[in-house]
Amino acid sequence: METLKYTSTRNHSLSVSSIDAIIKGLAEDGGLYVPSCFPSPYTLDEVKDLDYKELAVKIIHRFFSDFEQEEIRTFVDKAYDGKFHTGKITPLVKKGEVHFLELFHGPTLAFKDMALTFLPYLLKGALEKNNLYKKVVILTATSGDTGKAALEGFKDIDGIQIIVFYPTLGVSEIQKKQMMTQKGNNVHVVGIHGNFDDAQNALKEIFNHSEFNRHVEANGYTLSSANSINIGRLIPQIIYYFFAYFQLVKNKEISLGEPVNIAVPTGNFGNILAAYYGMKLGLPIHQFICASNENKVLADFFNSGIYDRRRNLKSTISPSMDILISSNLERLLYDLSGENSTLISEIMEKLKTESFYFIPEYMKEKLTLFYGGSADEEKIYNAIKKVYEQWNYVMDPHTAVAYSVYEDYVHQTKDSTKTIIVSTASPFKFTKSVCKALHMNVDGKNDFQLIGEFANKMSIDIPLPVKNIHQQENLHHTVCNKEEIKSIIENILKV
Ligand SMILES: *Cc1c(COP(=O)(O)O)cnc(C)c1O
Repeated sequence: METLKYTSTRNHSLSVSSIDAIIKGLAEDGGLYVPSCFPSPYTLDEVKDLDYKELAVKIIHRFFSDFEQEEIRTFVDKAYDGKFHTGKITPLVKKGEVHFLELFHGPTLAFKDMALTFLPYLLKGALEKNNLYKKVVILTATSGDTGKAALEGFKDIDGIQIIVFYPTLGVSEIQKKQMMTQKGNNVHVVGIHGNFDDAQNALKEIFNHSEFNRHVEANGYTLSSANSINIGRLIPQIIYYFFAYFQLVKNKEISLGEPVNIAVPTGNFGNILAAYYGMKLGLPIHQFICASNENKVLADFFNSGIYDRRRNLKSTISPSMDILISSNLERLLYDLSGENSTLISEIMEKLKTESFYFIPEYMKEKLTLFYGGSADEEKIYNAIKKVYEQWNYVMDPHTAVAYSVYEDYVHQTKDSTKTIIVSTASPFKFTKSVCKALHMNVDGKNDFQLIGEFANKMSIDIPLPVKNIHQQENLHHTVCNKEEIKSIIENILKV
């Protein structure tokens, strides 16, 4: 059987195996790896009765056919067995008219676990298949949640070192503490003065720095990424959209084939792109609701066709979405342009040199599939409070962004299509903001103190990953400027 090849969004003539795409993470021309020929859709009947893991095997194998189906099954078992706090893995919770797709029951309480429990096995498998004797160094920039999820996923895996770079000002107290206390013989955590965009850009430059890569390779290492720029991270995120859809069918909320809306709190555009890939694979989706916080580059883009990052990044109470350069939008635009890698290459160059770009009219027309909206701090607090008062259900601030934008959407369009709100983090990761929204007294208290108070108020147990976390010892102390990243990596690898 012909296996599926990958090409770059910036050079359609490139062709690499899925194994190489997974190992490299980012194409040499700076583009992102995408399937050379997108897999054909499923019929819904073919997949509707599969459980989470069976769906996972089916979807992942379709994209990474260099692996045997049985190999993928082994990775899937290792990724999802016993690591999630609920047997359902991603429960769908109905409140009023909406359905919250809870993606935060994994080891680090954020949706990044959905793919990062899996990626390490896939990557290790890819290395073995390539007979790569080199050791891999995972470099990851984090807006808060990826870092911890990647550290948990990759810790103590032979032949792999992982270095996570977090922006010193851009992450919540609990997110930071989760990373600082990470144990493992191959894990490194480094703070970078600056914001997430600075960290992500600095790493992208390192991936494209041929001299630095040669130097590292000469010492037996190869660089890879655990960010959603890595296609191995993106594909496992398609699974839960199918799973949620079939759940709605089973609960008789919709009939098979009926379209739904999906509202996603968005930063780097990975999660919502996975939903879009789901649609290309046959999932009936009416409208994608792309929700931004005050850093609303994407909302503006979907409303104008102009991507303009000429603004200051704000630190918000939904820090994992504090991003001005949404990397995975490039993959969507590649698709909407009819796989025109010349055009994508031009607009990405323009973004780099002039900090903005616009897309041609024929592409703009296709953007109507996406509704872009945003929520500021006040709207986030109001949404959390309102949902709590109505249904005794507490959203974290990221999920609240999606809920608030969904309400605006319904208000504007009167659309009554059933909607899935993607719930990306546990409220226990952002207790201070959540407690403040619920009008609890937070004065002089930090996130850690409020974990207990919040659990009491809700009469629920504190999730294990954050229980007693404040008593654990900080193990990582390095902080640097972005210019120093290369030498930090050299020091860590002793090269
Ligand atoms: C990463 C993250 C997001 C944004 O997801 P993208 O795939 O980057 O768009 C939203 N919410 C939470 C809690 C996250 O950790």
